[in-house]
Parts: sequence; C-alpha cells; structure tokens
Amino acid sequence: IQALRMPGSKPDQEDENEPKLTESEKKKVSLQETRRSLPIFPFRDDLIQAIEKHQVLIIEGETGSGKTTQIPQYLYEAGFTRGGKKIGCTQPRRVAAMSVSARVAQEMGVKLGNEVGYSIRFEDCTSERTVIKYMTDGTLHREFLSEPDLQSYSVMIIDEAHERTLHTDILFGLVKDITRFRPDLKLLISSATLDAQKFSDFFDEAPIFRIPGRRYPVDIYYTKAPEADYIDACVVSVLQIHATQPLGDILVFLTGQEEIETCQELLQERSRRLGSKIRELLILPVYSNLPSDMQARIFHPTPRNARKVVLATNIAETSLTIDNIIYVIDPGFCKQNSFNSRTGMESLIVVPISKASANQRAGRAGRVAAGKCFRLYTAWAYKHELEDNTVPEIQRINLGNAVLTLKALGIDDLVHFDFLDPPPLETLVLALEQLYALGALNHHGELTKLGRRMAEFPVDPMMAKMILASEKYKCSEEILTIAAMLSVNGAIFYRPKDKTVHADAARHSFFTPGGDHLMLLNIYTQWADSDFSTQWCYENFLQHRSLKRARDVRDQLAGLMARVEIDLVSAAGDTVGIRKAITAGYFYHVARLSKGGQYKTVKHQQTVMIHPNSSMFEDLPRWVIYHELKFTTKEFLCQVIEIESKWLLEVAPHYYKPHVLEDSTNKKMPKMTGKS
Ligand code: ADP
Ligand code: MG
Repeated sequence: IQALRMPGSKPDQEDENEPKLTESEKKKVSLQETRRSLPIFPFRDDLIQAIEKHQVLIIEGETGSGKTTQIPQYLYEAGFTRGGKKIGCTQPRRVAAMSVSARVAQEMGVKLGNEVGYSIRFEDCTSERTVIKYMTDGTLHREFLSEPDLQSYSVMIIDEAHERTLHTDILFGLVKDITRFRPDLKLLISSATLDAQKFSDFFDEAPIFRIPGRRYPVDIYYTKAPEADYIDACVVSVLQIHATQPLGDILVFLTGQEEIETCQELLQERSRRLGSKIRELLILPVYSNLPSDMQARIFHPTPRNARKVVLATNIAETSLTIDNIIYVIDPGFCKQNSFNSRTGMESLIVVPISKASANQRAGRAGRVAAGKCFRLYTAWAYKHELEDNTVPEIQRINLGNAVLTLKALGIDDLVHFDFLDPPPLETLVLALEQLYALGALNHHGELTKLGRRMAEFPVDPMMAKMILASEKYKCSEEILTIAAMLSVNGAIFYRPKDKTVHADAARHSFFTPGGDHLMLLNIYTQWADSDFSTQWCYENFLQHRSLKRARDVRDQLAGLMARVEIDLVSAAGDTVGIRKAITAGYFYHVARLSKGGQYKTVKHQQTVMIHPNSSMFEDLPRWVIYHELKFTTKEFLCQVIEIESKWLLEVAPHYYKPHVLEDSTNKKMPKMTGKS
C-alpha cells in the first residue's frame, strides 16, 4: 500500500537503524497517544481502585472525556474479564452502540464482533470471544428475560444515564435489585452531567467519581426575532460561518433524517452555486438509520483548508463526540415520543428542547478550543420558554412494552417497583388495560400464555399480537413481512428532488387494494422476486438499504416464530385474513370517516386525517386501521388499511361493543374521489 502524500510534504526519511513501523503499527501508536490524551486518562488508576472498593459507583464527566470508550478498556486491562466474564455497557442509542464499539475494537486492535462487540435490536454482533459488549439499554432489558442475574457479566455500566430513556430508567431498578444478591457484580452508572447526586441517592448513597472536564469558553449568540423557517436559517448560518469565520468544523442539530436530508440538499445546492468563491465544505449527516460506513465518516479528520459541517440529530448532544467542532448551530428543537394518557395516543412530535439540552449542545463547541454557539431562537425564548430539564421518557410515553417485559420477568407489583422517577399512575394503568385488551394479561393482571409468547418479540405489544394472530388467520409469511417493513423506520421510498414525478409514479405503481400494509407486502414480495436486486430498487425509486434491513428484521422475526412454535404459512392472496390479523393487533388504532374527508378515532373522537403519502389518501374508506399517528401541521394517520367494522367484533369482542360501531347517521359517507 502506498501512502498518499500531501503535495509539498517531504518524503519520509527513515533511518536504517530505527525500527520500521508499518502503516498499521503507526496508526496503533497514534491511537494509543490519543487514548492517553483524554481527560479520563490521568484518573485511570484511581478509578480502578474506586471500582474495586465499591460495588456501585456513579461516574460523572463531561461528554468527550472518554467514559464510554475508555472505562471498559481500563476494566479489561485491570483483569475484570478474567474467568470468562464480560463487561457490559449500555447505550440509549443504536448508533452510539455501533460506533463506540467499532472505535474500541480499533483501539484494541481487534476485529469488531470478536473481543469487542455490540448487540442492538435485530442485530447481534458478538461472539463467544466477546468480553466487552456494548448494547442498547433495550437489549439489556430483554437480556434479563434469559439471564435474570446477569451471571455472565462481571461489570455492568449503565452509560449516558442522564438521557433517562425508558429502558435506562427501568434498568436502574433491575440492576439495583441484582447488586443485592450478586455482591461480585460491579455496577457503574455513568452520566454526562448534573444528575449524579440523584443517582447516588437512588443507589443507596453510592460514591460519585468526578472526572474534571476540559472546557473552553463558548460564546452564545441568539437571534433577534424568532425564525420562521429554521432549516433555512440553518443553511444561511452555515454558509455565513463558512464565509466569514476562521476554519473549524460546524455541528448543526436537527430533529431527524428528513430534516437532515433537506438541509443537506439545500447546502449542497447553495454552496455549489457559490462555486470556487468559497472553500471546500464537506457536508456529513448523522442519524440513527444511516449505514455505519457513512456514520464513520464524521470521525475522519477534516482535510486541510476545508471545513466539515455535521448535520446531526441529538445523538451528537452527548452520545457521540466529534472532535474539532468549533461552531454549533442550535435551532432549539428535537423529536420526542409523546403519549397522551387521556386519549391513549402516541405520537412523535417536534418539541422545543430543554435548557439542559441547549447547554449540552453549546458545550460541544468548546471541547478543543474556544467556540461559538448560534442559537436560532431569542434570548427571551431561552429564558422563558424552555423547561429546565427534559422530562424523563418514562413519564411521557406508552409503557405497554416495558410493562409486558417486567411482567415476563415476574415483577407483578409495578406500582411499587423501584423507579427513580415513577411514571404517572394513569399511564401505568393504561398500559395494563391495553395488555389486558390484547389478551396478554388475565383479569388478575397475570401474564397469559399469549402474553408470554408476546414477550418473546422485541416489538410493541400490538405488533407482537398481530404477529401471533397470523397463526389463526393462516398468513404468518405475509404478516412477518409486513411487521418487518413497518419496523424499518427509515424511508422506503426514494424521492430525489429532480425526479419527483418519476418517483411518485413508481410509488403509485405499488398501490395495492386494501391499503398501505399490503402495499409494503407487495413491494417486498416483488423485491424478493427480483432476487433482492439492488438494481430493481434503483429502478423503482426504493431505498435498497431499508429493504435490506427489512429482510434482516424478517429473518430475526422468523427465528422467534420458531421459538414460539408457529409455522410459516402463506395466505396465498387472501388479504382479508391478513387484514384481520393486523386488526387483531391494532384494534386500538381504529378511525372512522367523518365529514369533509376527515376521520375520527373511535375511542376518543379525535379528528385526524390520512397522511397525503398514504396510498389510501384518495380512497377514504369508511373504516381504517392506522399504524402510526404523526403530528406535524395536523394529526395524520400513517400506514393505513381499510377494514370492515364487523372484524372488530370478531377480533376484540371484549373491547368493542356493537352499538359503538353502528353508524349514527345511517347514511353512506360520500366518497371524495377515486376508485371504489
Ligand atoms: P464520553 O463517553 O466521556 O463522552 P467517549 O469515550 O465517547 O467520551 O469519547 C472519547 C473520545 O473518543 C472522543 O475524543 C471521541 O472523539 C473519540 N471517539 C469516540 N467514538 C469514536 C469513533 N467512532 N471514531 C473516532 N473517534 C471516536
Ligand atoms: Mg459517552
């Protein structure tokens, strides 16, 4: 391999007497130097001593100090994996688990999946040899089902504890319980900020180990007036920084893949128009569905004389540290899962961030030098409109899945479970009610046989029920495909700005009577018929990556079907059976056509609309089941199928009573447009 040289650089003059290092050896040396330069390094021995002395330790240190990548390696070097035990480290985000484990494998000079591995939902990259295992908090939560005492671990690190995701919060209670009967298990709770005392109180006054951070000052700028279009404001700000400020990379916080892609396109377009008037601008996105080779690019050093701009979700707030960021652009929003326990509706909405988040984001600019943070909101809004802290997830989302897993772990009294912050009682009750309605719990609140089988699937209880109902309706092949396609949260369709007409035509060609789920099935089946061809996806404006992921998920689900002993059978074109199985899982998500093309949810009479991207947008069937409710400008139903109301009585007789499903008007609803 020939090393590339920058023009003008001198060729290496290697002295014959000096040991010659190969490229990979050199890289290793520099990696070790980088390790030694991290803020945590001087505390290595003290930290190990503290861990040896105390069973539970709270570790607090600024983002980027080396907690996630270094502590597991220190423990490994100190012999904590002797006797074949593992060091586990949980991450709230999949991307972080993947990226951090890749980094650690590289630092240790091993292949990812061997000594260092990761495990996330639907993807296990570990082996017999794995001693350092990164995983999502959800994965560890599920591991309790097969190994309730975590016997294979000598140390468990609950990392990024400050993120307070639902699973992390539940893990707090579970691991606290375990430390009582596993005195040999070391437990580390690691957090970026603030909450250390609260964690210490919860874990019986566990000592706090603080890693002093290195922080440079960050100047904060606010806008004078609120921004009407923050994506556009981001683009303008990036280009302004690029044109007027000294070199240094830029980090922009956006709420999701769609925004990131829009922003990326706009930036590319406008910087192209500026041409050679500006320096090179490297635009790099990062969000959870991005393939890992693309993710890795954000860590590559910026070429000389160029500037990198990273467009990230709030994954870059604390989970990932990107070196050399000097400028942060913060529009002040993030996407949040929220659940209305009154209406039982769950939605993913864009909400203002908290002050704590805003300060974390600003902090990203001051890691390597003095930096600047541009807040695209007013100082007044910061002061008066942002909450101090983000509400922990457990207090704002549907607990169905969590409750099902806890029940499967034999934890029956959820009201008295040891929560760091308890969920609202009504949310807990609602989750229990829903599991009862789905048949997962009996009227004593005990797990039924169906519930036990449902808990085998790492999916929402409604989806688990749909999958299991496919046995009765003899359509497990199709339902697995549908479940897999619904689980791919990245986009399925590809819609480049310059080919929208073609892309939309391609999308329309997949429309299938009955609705979106059947369209997804249709797409997958045709793709399978094409021998899973990339070219076919390309020609049909489909994201090959998403479909490939659907195939992986489907394989995993098929494995779980074997575990619960359900044979895979095909409905051979009977879409009624398929739609009934979907209804059996999602009968909570029913809406009925009302006036003016709008719908009303049956349970709560909420006015909603079918999303314009749905294949049912012009059909407007009288009764529909939706997969998701999204709130953007209005409340939209996403992924919709047409059903018959009498199916509801068939699949959920205990939940639906005939009079609820009768038409009060007795008149046919007018169809707006389209086919019948
Ligand atoms: P903390 O957990 O305290 O926030 P980390 O251990 O994640 O800190 O990060 C320590 C250092 O490792 C940072 O300088 C970061 O840039 C680097 N790093 C982490 N992940 C990667 C990666 N995938 N590629 C390159 N560098 C990485
Ligand atoms: Mg970390």
